[in-house]
Order: sequence, then structure tokens, then C-alpha cells
Amino acid sequence: MVVLHQCSLVRSWLLRLILLHTACEMGRGQLHYSVAEESQHGTFVGHIAQDLGLEVGDLMPRMFRMVSQGRRDYLEVNLQNGILFVNSRIDREELCTKMPVCTINLEVILENPLRVFHVEVEIKDINDNAPVFPAAEQTLVIAESVSPGSSFPLEGASDDDVGSNSHVSYKISPNEHFTLDFQNNDEHGESLVLVLKKPLDRELTHMHNLLLTATDGGKPQQTGTVHIVINVLDANDNGPVFNQSVYKIKLLENATVGTLIVSLNATDLDEGINKDIMYSMRTVNPQNVGELISLDPKTGQIRLNGELDFESITSAEIGIEATDKGLPPIKGHCKVLIEVLDVNDNAPEVTVSSLSVPVPENSSPGTVVALISISDRDSGANGQVTCSLWPSGLPFKLTSTFKNYYSLVLAEPLDREQVAEYSLVLIAQDQGDPPLTASSSVVVPISDVNDNAPTFAQPSYTVFVRENNPPGAHIFTVSASDPDVAENALVSYWLDEKLWPLSSYISVHSESGKLYALQPLDYEEMKLLEFQVRAKDAGLPSLCGNVTVQVFVLDENDNAPAVSGLAEDTPIQVKVPVAAGHLVGKIHALDGDSGYNAWLRYELFDASSGPWRVGLYSGEISTTRALEESEGNIIQSLLVLVKDHGNPALSTTATFSVSLVASAQAVQSDAHLSRMGGSRKPLADTANLYLIIAICSVSSLFLLVILSR
Ligand code: CA
Ligand code: CA
Ligand code: CA
Ligand code: CA
Ligand code: CA
Ligand code: CA
Repeated sequence: MVVLHQCSLVRSWLLRLILLHTACEMGRGQLHYSVAEESQHGTFVGHIAQDLGLEVGDLMPRMFRMVSQGRRDYLEVNLQNGILFVNSRIDREELCTKMPVCTINLEVILENPLRVFHVEVEIKDINDNAPVFPAAEQTLVIAESVSPGSSFPLEGASDDDVGSNSHVSYKISPNEHFTLDFQNNDEHGESLVLVLKKPLDRELTHMHNLLLTATDGGKPQQTGTVHIVINVLDANDNGPVFNQSVYKIKLLENATVGTLIVSLNATDLDEGINKDIMYSMRTVNPQNVGELISLDPKTGQIRLNGELDFESITSAEIGIEATDKGLPPIKGHCKVLIEVLDVNDNAPEVTVSSLSVPVPENSSPGTVVALISISDRDSGANGQVTCSLWPSGLPFKLTSTFKNYYSLVLAEPLDREQVAEYSLVLIAQDQGDPPLTASSSVVVPISDVNDNAPTFAQPSYTVFVRENNPPGAHIFTVSASDPDVAENALVSYWLDEKLWPLSSYISVHSESGKLYALQPLDYEEMKLLEFQVRAKDAGLPSLCGNVTVQVFVLDENDNAPAVSGLAEDTPIQVKVPVAAGHLVGKIHALDGDSGYNAWLRYELFDASSGPWRVGLYSGEISTTRALEESEGNIIQSLLVLVKDHGNPALSTTATFSVSLVASAQAVQSDAHLSRMGGSRKPLADTANLYLIIAICSVSSLFLLVILSR
């Protein structure tokens, strides 16, 4: 209701204004109305009949008509009430475009009498057009290097309305980089520019989206907007930056050619060629590493180009440069530190620097035989070497005199006679994983020292030699051995005459050890020769050994039995009568030999020569039967054969006379018998008894010698 009331108030106020205006125009003979464009059909424009001083009733009869100049019938007059009203839609912008005043000129014609009136209807603008930008979007390209204060023209908006309805003001969406500068004066006309107030950074924001709003001065205001898209053009304001300022690489020295050592990575925040990076090596330390590595300028990959050797290069420092392709280019730097790791690729080396051979066998433990130095080109555990001897159990040991220096020394006494030469292997082994070894063979010959005297196989020798040997006969050979060598083992023999001077009997050949009997030995003179043979070597000083030699002289049957004390011319008197078995006398014979050779037997040469018999071994002569007194005064002669048991046997004969006398002669006979040794009591032939014992003992001695050989 309130709104309606206000509307009617405005309308009556407008009406009064028009009337005032009309009255003013009438004076000039021309009517002037105004109406807002886009008014509805039927909208009142003016009391045209009344204003022309015409009666409404005259309009029809006087053929009232209205002619517009070549225009559509925007306006019409109601002939019933004489009111000019809007007949069809009037668009000021269509009718007059941007003309500041838009009018429709009408001619009103009346007949009877003919009159023509000019009526001018001004079409008032309403704000029915918003400002319009030529495109929905405006694109600007601005280099990020542009300095603040620079301005960039924008296309402004147009408004089809006129007057304040077409007065446009601009506003840009809030942002930190741009402001808007809008000038509108008569001198320069309209100028709309975007002004940079804060430097751009493409790397931060490569595109800015702003909304530009144009607002006209109508009531109510109308607005139009446009998107301002600002593409920030890159400038080369960023250098390449490596993701690490220092690359620390550990590389095994046996890395193969082509191994990727490191992939460098530098980035550049710019775009296009400004971010295109080329890598290059600026410095290489040590210089010769430069030949061992290669850098791909595009990918930044550093690869191994040759063979590393820790033993010559342990580390390297490479200065790398990354350069973009901007104008001017910007560089970035980094450092690559390569640590070469040792690999156990070097075997130890063993050097025998001094070898004192041959080693005399009497060298004392601790004697230095050789000096050994070892080395290994690797480092750390790979270069730590231990030295050992193979095989174990030899009389040598290694002593470390200094780091990596060893002495091969004698650990135990030597004996060349047991081992004349040692073959040693020196083994050096490092502590790498796996370990490497090296070996060196050392031959240590042992030189002889005269530490052995010649020795005989037995402490004594027993030699049996038959007597009557030819002079110079070889009776035995002694031999001493000496385990030394050369002069130290060159043995010569001689006879030691300190005990018995036997040089007339025995000699020894100094080289061969042959024993000779210089003259025939005589058992009956000497049954045993005992002496010492000495042997000495030719060492300096020489050593001696000796052996006892017992030479038993063996008996030969070289002595015939001999009868002693028997007088053939004085017969033995036997008083008759005597009983059978009466001992008459005894043959006493001796033999210079011994044993069987001296064992005698007695036989009557002619057994039939009377009543006599002789004891086979006793030599006793006795009667075989009783002799009567009547048989007295007879002298009988007996031939007795005495024979030893030698082979061949030797013999002799003895003549034995017996005189038989009657009892009266007995006393004389007994006295004679006792003088002859032919005692009455049985004669134990002691000589023969000894002989038998001697034979027995010689036989057992033989047996002993045979057994012991
Ligand atoms: Ca308008
Ligand atoms: Ca840039
Ligand atoms: Ca090694
Ligand atoms: Ca020796
Ligand atoms: Ca010797
Ligand atoms: Ca003899």
C-alpha cells in the first residue's frame, strides 16, 4: 500500500512537471513531451489535444491524425480523450544509439481548417544496459622481470546507455601485484591500465586470474566483468641447484668400467631453456682421475671410464658445474667426493733377502739362516700379512724382527747325519676376505761337521787262525763306518801297540782294514794275540774309534809224540811170581800239540809178543796172566807204538825191556821201578787228563764262536 501510494505521488509530480514544460513549449508553437524508454504500452505521454487547444470532440470530425517521420508507430493518440500514449516498445539505444538526446518528431495534422503541429517526444534513457567488455577474457603476457610501476593497457567496457547510465568506473579483484589506473578526461580520453605494484615471480605463481568489474553510474547500477588472465613469462632468474651440495661416494677399486658412480641431479626453477641444464666438470683433483671418469653433460651421470687402483688413488674430489641455457646463463655448483675402497687384489710378496747356507750342523739354536721381507700393496687388513713356515716340525722358526721383516732362525740343534737338507716353504698370507697368499721355497742344506768318530760294528772281534800260516796271510778285515761325509768320513786304520808290540806279527792295511799275519804263527808258542785296531777319520780334528781283536791260533798236528825218560838198555825187573794184571811199568810220552793232536794212545807193536798189554790211554804196561817163578831170568823187549789223534796222526815208538827175576832179586827191581816213575800205585796220567779237558774247552769255544757269528 505504501509503495502504491508513493508511486501515485511520483506520477502526479511528473504530470505537473510535464504540464509546466508543455506550457512553455506552446509559446514556441511546438509541443514537447518526454517519456522513458521501454515504457509499457499505453503509458501516458501527454494531453496532446488539450495542449494543442483542441476539443476532444473535434478530433474525429477534423480528421486528427499523427505522422511520425519514417518511424514505427511508437506513439498513438487516443481520439476519445486526446491523450498521447506509448503504443509500442521504444528502445532508446535502438532508436538513437549513443546520441545524447533522443527524440521522436511527430506531425499532427488537422483538417477544416488544415493545421500542422510539430510535436517532439524526447525518449529518456533508462539504465537498461550493463557495461560490456569486448570479450569474456583478456589475456596478458608479462615477463616476470618487469619492474614495478610498469603499466599494461586493458580494454575497457562499453555501455550502450548514455549519460550517467553509461559512465563506467572500474574495480579489480583484490590482489597483491596489480592495481588499476583509470583516466577519463577530454584531453586523452579514456585510458584503462593495469599497473604492477609488486614484482612478479613466475616460479611462485605462473598465472594470475583477476576479475575486472565495470560499474556504470545508473540507478541502480549495472556491472559487467571480465577475467584478466596474466601469464607470467619466465626470466632466467634461478640458477641450477643440486639436490646435494656434496656427494660422498664410496667406490670399490675393482669396480668395472662403465659403473655408474653417481647420478647428479640439479634442478632449475625456471622453465624452457632457462631450466635446461648442462653438467660439466670444473676441477678434478687429482688430475689423472679425469681420465678415469666421464660425465654425461645431459644426464649428469658420472661413470667409471677406466680402471681404479686404490694403491695409486685413494680419493678424488671433483668440482661439478651445472649451467642453464638462459641468457645470460646461471651456474650452480656441487662437489663429488669419491672414496676409493681397497679390495684385496694384491697378493703378499715374500722376498728372501739374505740366505746363509749351508748351515753347519753344529750351529746353535738362534743362528740366523735367512732374512725375509714381506710386503702387500693393499691397506688395512688386506695388507696385513702374517708369515708362517711349512711344513711344521722342522728345526726352524720365524721371528719377527720388525714389522714385515722376519728372520729364519734355527730352533733346535741340527744333525746332518739325520737330515742333510731341508726344504722350507715360507707362506705369507694377508688378512683380506678371501685372503691371498704367496709362498717362497727355501732350500737349506746342512754342512757336515766332524762329529762322528768311526765306529766298528762290534766292540771286539774274535779271529781264529790256523798255525803255520804262510807269511803275509790275510786273516781278517776290520771295517769302521763314519756317518760323516768326505774327509770327515775318510777312515784309516792302524794297530795300537801300546799294550803289546805286535808289529812283527800282525799288520793292518790303513785303507782297507785288512789284517795280515806277517809270519807263521805257532800255536805251541802263542795261542792268543789280543790287540786293538784303531780307526780315525780325516776330519780336523780327527776322531778315533777302536776295536779289540782276539786272534786265537788254532792248533795243527805238527808235533809227534815224544817218549821221555825211557832207557832201553836198562830193563825193568819184575819179580816173579806175579799175578795177572800186575803193573809192570808205564810209558811216559808227551805231545807238543794240544787237543786231539796231543791225545795219545798206546799200542803194543806186536801184541803176540808175550803176556803183556799196554793201557790204551794210560801207557801202563801190565801182565796179561800170572807169571811163575819159573819164568824168571828172562829179558823181554816190547815195542810200544805211541800215536796222537791228529789228522793225519803222528806217531813214535818206544822200546820197553822187562827182565823177569826170581824173588830174590825183587828189592832191586822195586828200587828201579820207583826211579823210573813207574810207581806201584795206579798212575793217574795227569797229562792226558788235562788234554781231554783242553779238547773239551776248545770244542766248546768253537761252538761259542760259531754261535756268535
Ligand atoms: Ca539505456
Ligand atoms: Ca624464472
Ligand atoms: Ca691384498
Ligand atoms: Ca757330521
Ligand atoms: Ca767323522
Ligand atoms: Ca801243533
